[in-house]
Amino acid sequence: MRITRLTVWTVELPLKRPYSLSGGRLHVDRLDSTIVRVDSDEGLTGWGEGCPWGSTYLPAFARGIRAGLEELAPAVLGLDPRRADVVHRAMAVALPGHPYVKSPIDMACWDIAAQAAGVPLCDLLGGRTAGRLRLHSSIPSGTPAELMAEIDLARAEGYTMHSAKVGGDVDADIERMRTLDAEMAPGEDVTFDCNRSWLPADAIAALNATSDLNRLVEQPCETIEQHLHVRRHVGQPLALDESVQSYGDMLQAVTTGACEVIGLKIGRVGGLTVARRIRDLCLEAGVAMNIEDTGGSSLQATAAAHLAQSTPEPFRRATWLCFDHLTFDPVEGGVTNDAGWSAAPDTPGLGAQPDVDALGTPVLQFDL
Ligand code: MG
Repeated sequence: MRITRLTVWTVELPLKRPYSLSGGRLHVDRLDSTIVRVDSDEGLTGWGEGCPWGSTYLPAFARGIRAGLEELAPAVLGLDPRRADVVHRAMAVALPGHPYVKSPIDMACWDIAAQAAGVPLCDLLGGRTAGRLRLHSSIPSGTPAELMAEIDLARAEGYTMHSAKVGGDVDADIERMRTLDAEMAPGEDVTFDCNRSWLPADAIAALNATSDLNRLVEQPCETIEQHLHVRRHVGQPLALDESVQSYGDMLQAVTTGACEVIGLKIGRVGGLTVARRIRDLCLEAGVAMNIEDTGGSSLQATAAAHLAQSTPEPFRRATWLCFDHLTFDPVEGGVTNDAGWSAAPDTPGLGAQPDVDALGTPVLQFDL
């Protein structure tokens, strides 16, 4: 089987409500998604998506994906899409770095490989494990009252686990964390996600002042080294998210004991091929994972759900559905939010595909 064509669309995905994170430094009100279809000479077609959370959240931006695809297309046309590692190595040679650019092609190849095998993607990524996927909400930063108002909206959709965005002024953050902790019902949980907005001194002060809360704190600072410094002075479990951008970053985090949990976002690390390797390292190291993506339609969410579904409990901590934040989703099928829980589809492949009419005119096309 050979890849014969790559077709690329852009889709604007407006958010239901504007979103702030990292202490209010970063704002997003719409996402710019790039959707890629990979066609093969045997009639199978795979779908992939790349959608950064705006341009400020990570070293990734939407137009970078389209520019990068022009570099990658000549390297992957003609390859067998069922050989995901071979395709990924070809992309690494054609364009070192830029992992997020590679993710949509990688995702589409996995979709084809699973269709060719006649199994749902989760079965190719290790095998479907028991149980449903717990979803967590994503709560934009604000005052304690604003955070609680968003949590109430998430509760109405069935969410019992929340990722609340904090970070910024230490005294205000202490108040935010104490307020939210006190409001949690039995069986409900909240993570405090700082999105790298604290300096190590701020993190140490804020976390030591709330050490009785015993809640997971995510990405308090910018780098793994800064987290190691914080780690030596606080007792709370820590999660890393933005600072794990490669397998090497995860290896460093594991060998230095920088975290107990990671946010494994597929696009950020270069696609399912690398995310699966990181997942397997975390399984060996005893690190739990929130398995999701950086944004996007239900195409990206479904790919992440397949990786999560092939990851056993208690390692798969939670999964996030970006499309719950959107006013428009061009995708048919795929995962759904079933009152705060989800499951990977059981049809062959990804089990989700866009409505081509909703995508409009392609912006790029590459042929063998
Ligand atoms: Mg995070």
